[in-house]
Amino acid sequence: MVDLGKGFQIVTEKVIIIGSGPAAWTAAIYAARAELRPLVVEGALTEENRLAGTLPMGQLNLTTEVENFPGFPSGDMEAYLDSSIDANRRSIMAPHRKEGVSGPELMELMRQQALNFGTRVLDDDVTEVDFHARPFRLTMLGGTQLESHAVIVATGARANYLGLPSEDQFKNRGVSACAVCDGALPRFRNKPLVVVGGGDSAVEEADYLSKFACVVHLIHRRDQLRASKIMVERAMENPKINILWNRGLQEVLGNDKEGVTGVRLASTVGEPALEVAVTGVFLAIGHTPNTAFLKGQLALTDKKYIQWVTPQRTFTSVEGVFAAGDVADDYYRQAITAAGSGCMAALDAERWLAAQRL
Ligand code: NAP
Repeated sequence: MVDLGKGFQIVTEKVIIIGSGPAAWTAAIYAARAELRPLVVEGALTEENRLAGTLPMGQLNLTTEVENFPGFPSGDMEAYLDSSIDANRRSIMAPHRKEGVSGPELMELMRQQALNFGTRVLDDDVTEVDFHARPFRLTMLGGTQLESHAVIVATGARANYLGLPSEDQFKNRGVSACAVCDGALPRFRNKPLVVVGGGDSAVEEADYLSKFACVVHLIHRRDQLRASKIMVERAMENPKINILWNRGLQEVLGNDKEGVTGVRLASTVGEPALEVAVTGVFLAIGHTPNTAFLKGQLALTDKKYIQWVTPQRTFTSVEGVFAAGDVADDYYRQAITAAGSGCMAALDAERWLAAQRL
């Protein structure tokens, strides 16, 4: 408890969860059911967050159908959403389009489930942390300070885009950074697509998309892939993958009615630009974990992801601070794996708090 003078004090929370994707809400559900009264700092609705792709509710909130999260086969989702989500928030959700569940719907359901067990939510960004002393101290956008015995960091990662205005214009209408999330949508089936990038993710995305597309053009800025040998072989052997070397995405072409209709590709070796007709553009040029606000207080990997310091645990380099989801995982990056590690972080935090008699 911190004395702020004039009778005001900061109450020390048992556990604060930073983030609002599947890892954060799952951690909140478990922590709330363990009677830790978790406080979730879900992020702020700011223009800065919108432009960076870091608005509340995580990357899933930026996708359409989610067909690989277990437990959501086809069914009457509309009635389920109406009966389970708070009426005020339900009224501002986008209309339900198809059977199954969408990313935003899934996130709203997880949030509601966490609330139902007593989770409290703050719509703010953590801008600074102080993990040097316990209890830990967190500073919000407006300067408000929070204090907590344990912290779970679940701030996720954001897919890198090139930053082209045309890319922004067609996001969710043909431009995506997640083949596994969006690849099976009707607009991509039996159609030509492009994947931009030359690493393992790009090859994996191209390979995955080749199940649906008639052809996948893999656009790489050099004449050699960065991907591992086995992935390069996979790309070379796949008759549906056509690699366009020494090319960069210059502009996404399209219109309001159809969304993406093609791409203009610049040459990196002085050849003329090339236009290719496609209905989908998938960016696979890496992800950036949302760890900048930690300002060096947790050990990070060389790619700036939070380091899990013990195998099979969500422990970070600071005792009492746990990490879950994509902020600590540059490998699986799936909603279900994030949710799983959110559960692990809540159990780790609960056991740590019990051991400290807090
Ligand atoms: P990555 O290895 O960093 O590759 C990023 C690719 O995007 C590179 O080819 C890079 O080109 C290209 N790129 C970056 N910025 C670009 C730009 N502005 N314009 C055009 N191209 C750009 O990232 P990743 O493929 O996401 O892989 C991340 C990690 O996960 C890696 O360690 C990878 O091995 C691992 N992973 C493994 C698997 C698997 O084993 N199945 C699958 C996915 C990911 P340059 O090559 O010219 O730099």
